Amino acid sequence: RNGVADKIPASDLPQPAKIQRVIYTKIFINNEWHMSVSGRTFPTLNPATGDTICEVQEADKEDVDKAVAAAKAAMQLDSAWRKMEPPRRGRLLHKLADLVERDRKLLATLESLDTGKPFLQAFFTDLEGSIKTLHYYGGWADKIHGKSLPVDETFVCLTRHEPIGICGAIIPWNFPLLMLMWKLAPALSCGNTVVIKPAEQTPLTALHIGSLIKEAGFPAGVVNIVPGFGSTAGAAIASHEGIDKVAFTGSTEVGQLIKEAAAKSNLKRVTLELGGKNPCIVFADCDLQLAVEEIQKGAFYNQGQCCTAASRVFVQDRIYEEFVRRSIENAKKIVIGDPLDPQTTHGPQIDQQQFEKIIDLIESGKKEGAKLEYGGGAVGEKSLFIQPTIFSEVKDSMRIAKEEIFGPVLCIFSFKSKQEVIERANNSQYGLVSAVFTTSMDRALSVSGALETGTVWINCYNAMHVQTPFGGYKMSGNGRELGEYALAEYSEVKTVTFKMNDSM
Ligand code: NAD
Repeated sequence: RNGVADKIPASDLPQPAKIQRVIYTKIFINNEWHMSVSGRTFPTLNPATGDTICEVQEADKEDVDKAVAAAKAAMQLDSAWRKMEPPRRGRLLHKLADLVERDRKLLATLESLDTGKPFLQAFFTDLEGSIKTLHYYGGWADKIHGKSLPVDETFVCLTRHEPIGICGAIIPWNFPLLMLMWKLAPALSCGNTVVIKPAEQTPLTALHIGSLIKEAGFPAGVVNIVPGFGSTAGAAIASHEGIDKVAFTGSTEVGQLIKEAAAKSNLKRVTLELGGKNPCIVFADCDLQLAVEEIQKGAFYNQGQCCTAASRVFVQDRIYEEFVRRSIENAKKIVIGDPLDPQTTHGPQIDQQQFEKIIDLIESGKKEGAKLEYGGGAVGEKSLFIQPTIFSEVKDSMRIAKEEIFGPVLCIFSFKSKQEVIERANNSQYGLVSAVFTTSMDRALSVSGALETGTVWINCYNAMHVQTPFGGYKMSGNGRELGEYALAEYSEVKTVTFKMNDSM
């Protein structure tokens, strides 16, 4: 349940770091730490206890302006960064990856404290993914190139793949470090400079990365980090005329605001990774136990706070009852508790607002007639923990079938035919991921071709790889992160045309 950790003997498991005091709590600009221009700070809380971990300097528009000025200076044609040979850029990314590896326990502990996710999940998923992403894009830095194109014989045409310029990155709270790396690593690999705004709930790992950026030897101004709120610092990035591109992961509503602000300011490039209401189709010929376990991982991982959450599970009528029965059995293995305890597999939700939204949706499911099979409420009186919850007999018209819950709620529907289930699966404004469970290769291929999602997992779930592109159809987003595809999102293509006046 804690991923790779389940295969490691308990005595060999990593232990959380002992953190007496958080060191990096200021704004990071030009490789230096700054107080906020306004003098304001904000608290970051431990969702497992409600305690304040520390106060963080609160960036606003003026701080974003300073960060953009630093990023712009670092992008000048004669700057150390612009003149740096691409292999050296790659080496800096590999060096950063090594420093993240060195501080892995500390970063996983900070991530666990700030988000409430189990420490072992942070260590084996978020940190592993972050390190791999840095190495992967470190490897690309000196392999990014244009083409020579055949045109009319009196011309020679070349394309150059150049950095876009100053890239804004607005990060969510569910995978704070990993989502940062998905943006930072390709942006730097392509030679851009960056202004990053972590989510206000979870700024701590991003700020620690600031210290590692400096230690790795990146020139000043290449990476700048401005912790602050969405409607102030985030909005300042989206509408900034000095920023050439913005990459965002978060809610569809905010994604729309960002695209609008980008269009109205300077038409900056935008990539968006937004919500999902992800369908899973379980055919009667599948390996049933595998389907139950993978889908449950998809529904409950990170307390259900994943854009990829398995949120609409369609099970063929012949195996429906058995699927529900086994799902309940499997859910009983989930261990709710202190995120730093290695036994824990399920922590608290991120904050009060998310907690209330999820409880409201669970209540709506009960009222609208879904059958509550397991869980169904908060754990204890005053905590942010919610029981893993399973509903069966869910109908397509219910709120829990349509709205993104972003909490630990598994909704099970029944279906009869392939035709019917494809139509119902595609009947959503979202199109992020989907999954198909079947032992028929033909069915897997035909259904995966018909599903309107950016990713289709066959007989697996949450199988993410740094080499493969990730992003959504429809209102789940624009553009792709990861893989070679992401390089295009951080590059401009320039055509250079030579006229030959000397013909044969
Ligand atoms: P959000 O979209 O408001 O926040 C994500 C990031 O955007 C944060 O850094 C935030 O500060 C910033 N932001 C907020 N308003 C902004 C604005 N006007 N301009 C620029 N930046 C802004 O997400 P939330 O309110 O924390 O969570 C609400 C819902 O969003 C969740 O219930 C979930 O459905 C969704 N969500 C999705 C993901 C994902 O991975 N796709 C991640 C987090 C949240």
